[in-house]
Amino acid sequence: MNIDISQVQAFHGHMCPGLAIGIRVAEKALQEMGERPGDEQVVAIVETNNCAVDAVQFITGCTFGKGNLIHLDYGKNAFRFIRRRDNKAIRIIIRPQASGTTSMEQEGLMKRWRTGTVTDAEKQQAELIQRQRIEWILSAPLDELLEVQEIQTNAPPAAKIFNSVPCDACGEKTMETRLHMLEGKVYCPECYENILLRGN
Ligand SMILES: [Zn+2]
Ligand SMILES: [Zn+2]
Repeated sequence: MNIDISQVQAFHGHMCPGLAIGIRVAEKALQEMGERPGDEQVVAIVETNNCAVDAVQFITGCTFGKGNLIHLDYGKNAFRFIRRRDNKAIRIIIRPQASGTTSMEQEGLMKRWRTGTVTDAEKQQAELIQRQRIEWILSAPLDELLEVQEIQTNAPPAAKIFNSVPCDACGEKTMETRLHMLEGKVYCPECYENILLRGN
């Protein structure tokens, strides 16, 4: 698998354990779904919105703007991929030990480091642990790091193009399917909410 990690890092802005996890998830997804698929052939449904998702977007080409990246706000490190042509569907989860084996003491240090109350020596130690963790994630055998579940699900329909119509309050064009109707007028979601809040 030919993944240019420096490009993924540039896209995300930094290297971190979450991004490293995402790189490996994307690598596994491409293995399972075939080399980087054509546009919108594969849909990714991510159950988290953490750093890992950026790697998944960059490497698999499933992106928010194309509509083939869907976020379920479950707060889980789990990533589903569905191939449209045959509905092959998998769910990739991170095995519990994937954050690396660290002692309670180390965990405490990492926590203090993230919240900003450490000495210079502790900071150096924390950064070293972080680097080792990233290194381990990037080099571990995929099967040791990830579990792949076969799931039954259909890909959501491909993005449709809808008409846009001006909102009767702000005048801004809004996708028809997002407009709300009230007393014979149509409102964009923002204006509609404001009208409801004002109670008139
Ligand atoms: Zn990050
Ligand atoms: Zn409006």
